[in-house]
Amino acid sequence: MSNHLMNLPRLSGGTVHLPGETGYDERRGSLNPAVDAHPVMVIEAAGAADVRTAVLAAADCGLALAVQATGHGTHTAAEGILLRTTCMDSVRVDPLRRTATVGPGARWGRVLDEARKYGLAPLSGSSRDVGVTGFTLGGGVGWLSRRYGFAADSVLSAQVVLADGRQVRASEEENADLFWALRGGGGGFGIVTSLEFRLYPVREVQAGVITLDRETALATYRRLTENAPDALSTALMITPDSVWMKVLYAGGAAEAEKLVGPGLTTMEYADAAMGGTPARYLDFYHDLPDEALMRTGSRATVEIRHWGGAMANPGGPAGHRSVPYSVIVNEATEDMPRGVGATFLNFLADPSRIHTAFTADNFRRLAEVKRAYDPSGMFGPR
Ligand SMILES: Cc1cc2nc3c(=O)[nH]c(=O)nc-3n(C[C@H](O)[C@H](O)[C@H](O)COP(=O)(O)OP(=O)(O)OC[C@H]3O[C@@H](n4cnc5c(N)ncnc54)[C@H](O)[C@@H]3O)c2cc1C
Repeated sequence: MSNHLMNLPRLSGGTVHLPGETGYDERRGSLNPAVDAHPVMVIEAAGAADVRTAVLAAADCGLALAVQATGHGTHTAAEGILLRTTCMDSVRVDPLRRTATVGPGARWGRVLDEARKYGLAPLSGSSRDVGVTGFTLGGGVGWLSRRYGFAADSVLSAQVVLADGRQVRASEEENADLFWALRGGGGGFGIVTSLEFRLYPVREVQAGVITLDRETALATYRRLTENAPDALSTALMITPDSVWMKVLYAGGAAEAEKLVGPGLTTMEYADAAMGGTPARYLDFYHDLPDEALMRTGSRATVEIRHWGGAMANPGGPAGHRSVPYSVIVNEATEDMPRGVGATFLNFLADPSRIHTAFTADNFRRLAEVKRAYDPSGMFGPR
């Protein structure tokens, strides 16, 4: 363990922070208050060369290497080296190819703002602050996903530093097994230093909230979602005070009004902040358990999200593609009837349930890719 302390990694522009030094405490933290990491060092990378140096340092010392861009998705404390990619936040939009290429520290806000200049949109989620790479590797569901699929399914290529320090490209043509795993299988296969993905021609959307009658809300929601076009994304919110529906329609105002009635506003997609509910409880359902949902919603916040559409198309390992509804509750709940017993990797609150984020076949295949690319488990267990 002391080896690395005598031979500090030589970085190309990045910085090393050791316990006790100025800057260490500020950089070791995540946004999850339950995680209190004390890594043996924090390496703040300035580029892919620094990422490689960090990986080789971890390999030399037999240490685990955790990676963090924003700290939004950190569930376990980094014990070995913590690699921060926050400074690698480049964003490049190619309007002709309708693609974006981003560094691993980029957040959705920058991509939204660059893409909107050309009338394009990425498959971002409910927050501009979330990191593009962590979000996308974890599947990535957003308000355009029923229309265009999971963010992970729109990845075209990734540059990755592997556990042995090799820098490779993963795409349909190169390292295809790694490419498959990265599209929804999460981090843990290598450190992504650049991600290229598709953008879509969406400038304006119709978005807003519509209040529903408590007694009839679930029947109304079921009717709407059973016949919804892929351009319509909704979430039904049940709280002790009121019941309402969040709506985003990726199309014209007249069509939106025909589908859900008046009350939506025309706005640029990049400005449509739709928000989300912290997932203390999450399951997927083929049929919604009405009574239990109303009972739980009389004391907690329940968010029912409509999945399906383009997310049901074949792609990488992300998600359970055939299930139409997810239910999120903002507190632990004992009395919800079990759904299909699944979760979504990006909304995983309990890491011991990770296998339920995938189909059994995909989970097995991910384990094979993990063994091939990270045999020593440097990037964490699976
Ligand atoms: C406010 C908020 C809103 C959210 N909304 C949505 C939403 O609408 N849809 C959705 O799908 N998810 C959503 N999420 C979940 C979010 O996508 C995950 O928490 C995601 O992991 C965050 O990524 P990050 O880079 O910001 O976080 P970090 O904590 O920096 O990274 C999380 C994990 O991503 C992996 N990772 C990050 N960078 C790399 C890299 N360069 N190479 C390899 N692995 C890497 C690592 O496993 C890391 O532990 C939301 C989260 C929050 C806090």
